[in-house]
Amino acid sequence: MRPDRSEAIILQSIPSRERDKLVVFLTPEKGKRRGWAYGARGMRSRFGASLEPLAKVDLVFLEKETEEAVRIESASMIRSAFPAQQELVRSLAATYIAESVDTFVQPDDPSELVYRLLDRSIEALLEGRPVEPVVAYVEIWILKLGGVFPSIRHCAICQRPLERPLRCDVRGGLVCAECAEPGMLVVSNAAADLLVALMTTPVDDFAARKHSPDDLFELRALARDLRRYVLGHELKSHDLLQANIRP
Ligand SMILES: [Zn+2]
Repeated sequence: MRPDRSEAIILQSIPSRERDKLVVFLTPEKGKRRGWAYGARGMRSRFGASLEPLAKVDLVFLEKETEEAVRIESASMIRSAFPAQQELVRSLAATYIAESVDTFVQPDDPSELVYRLLDRSIEALLEGRPVEPVVAYVEIWILKLGGVFPSIRHCAICQRPLERPLRCDVRGGLVCAECAEPGMLVVSNAAADLLVALMTTPVDDFAARKHSPDDLFELRALARDLRRYVLGHELKSHDLLQANIRP
């Protein structure tokens, strides 16, 4: 049995028994995995603080065909876990981003694009970019990479090219004027422009630009409606972030 080695970002770290941790992590090539880190809770653990949520680490782990969870052999820090005490809103946003990724990525799904989304959005938060555009970026992109966010070019029902304003049916996509039913959400043209910018710009550049709070709010509401429809519930960390994001 040869050990595997991979860069990874920790999504969850769950204390287990007296001395161990069960860790959920995302890798660029092997997707989301679960692994046991034996002895990780001990005072003199060789894992130190490297298995805390959102830490970026170099992991060595052993896989057994008969077991779902791998065994983590070592972990060395590439970028430290999120400094929770430093700034509450940033820390809540990072937790929310980790939960979003954890929710929409299936185990073993190769997920290099999701990995890069997670890595760069955490980096943008650590570098002090404004929180709300980073969060909006992840909210839309995680739905897109998860196959939930609809095409912005073609009607989900008749496939004809979409015209402005965009109309959204949360049950399945953006629809043209002819396929739309009364009461469907109409996306303002400004928010639609922002959506196009978000889809075509790296997170760091997107977050560095100045955006209208109303347009960001509208896009986030669209993502939230689509997400709630698919999941049937809200993410656990959503309300706490929302309660703190706007002073
Ligand atoms: Zn149509």
